[in-house]
Amino acid sequence: MSESKIIYLNGEFLPEEGARVSVLDRGFLFGDGVYEVIPVFGGRPLRLAEHLDRLAHSLAETRIPDPLSRQGWTALFDELLSHNPGGDRSIYVQVTRGVAPREHAFPEAITPTVMAMVNPIRPLGDQVLAQGVAAVVIPDHRWARCDIKAITLLANVLARQEAVDSGATEAILVRNGLATEGAASNLFLVADGVIVTPPKDHSLLGGITRDLVVELAEANGLPVMETRIPEDSLQGAEEIWLTSSTREILPVTRLDGRRVGHGQPGPVWQRVHALYQDYKAHLRQEAP
Ligand code: PMP
Repeated sequence: MSESKIIYLNGEFLPEEGARVSVLDRGFLFGDGVYEVIPVFGGRPLRLAEHLDRLAHSLAETRIPDPLSRQGWTALFDELLSHNPGGDRSIYVQVTRGVAPREHAFPEAITPTVMAMVNPIRPLGDQVLAQGVAAVVIPDHRWARCDIKAITLLANVLARQEAVDSGATEAILVRNGLATEGAASNLFLVADGVIVTPPKDHSLLGGITRDLVVELAEANGLPVMETRIPEDSLQGAEEIWLTSSTREILPVTRLDGRRVGHGQPGPVWQRVHALYQDYKAHLRQEAP
């Protein structure tokens, strides 16, 4: 990646230092905005249509007018990628309601603020692949619309920090006795040889990686069940994984200081991880 990042901001491509937003932006004042993160492998965005669908969902549910057509978004991302060449990258795109004097209710005439940037994706290290990561279970203090990818992430930030403070990589969140997802990832476990993940509802973000993992597993004859995960079934799980666009499928081998299964990334993870790597390799080979 080139030294100076080029950022898209409200119709312009600018050096990072020159990309500035007003302190009256409602994203800054209220966290009144939504975002997306789209991984790009070999120059090809992974599941772009699904990411654009989720962005459209987040915008519609927060009543922020969609500032661009689907072709407009695609053209913007293409141009942004050409300004920020590199290996595996992710596009971060954020839309806030816009700039207006501070007042909770929506201002009448307001133009959304659109910002997009590119960040490198660091591959999972060999140690993570060989040994997995640690996670902790903590209460889910987030709001009731976790299906919206809102920039309002205070509860997620606090949860992730609690995990880091206790030497873990991720927090698994529990609400009403059910494990919902990670602070920034979806939750899978393997129980009696079956891959289990909670169904998509308002209590979690419908992850694009989650959906791809379900699809790849089913297409390859692995049993998958979308069903709720009671907190107390975490400790007995044979395997636990956390999925996200930038960290793919993370095997959790220690939960609250105790071993998960045999304390190593399990055989079902090995299989699904390999399927995911094959999927990415095919994406890289597709003609641009
Ligand atoms: N849940 C939450 C709360 C997230 O923030 C994320 C992504 N950062 C995910 C799940 C995973 O979603 P995706 O696979 O689309 O990256």
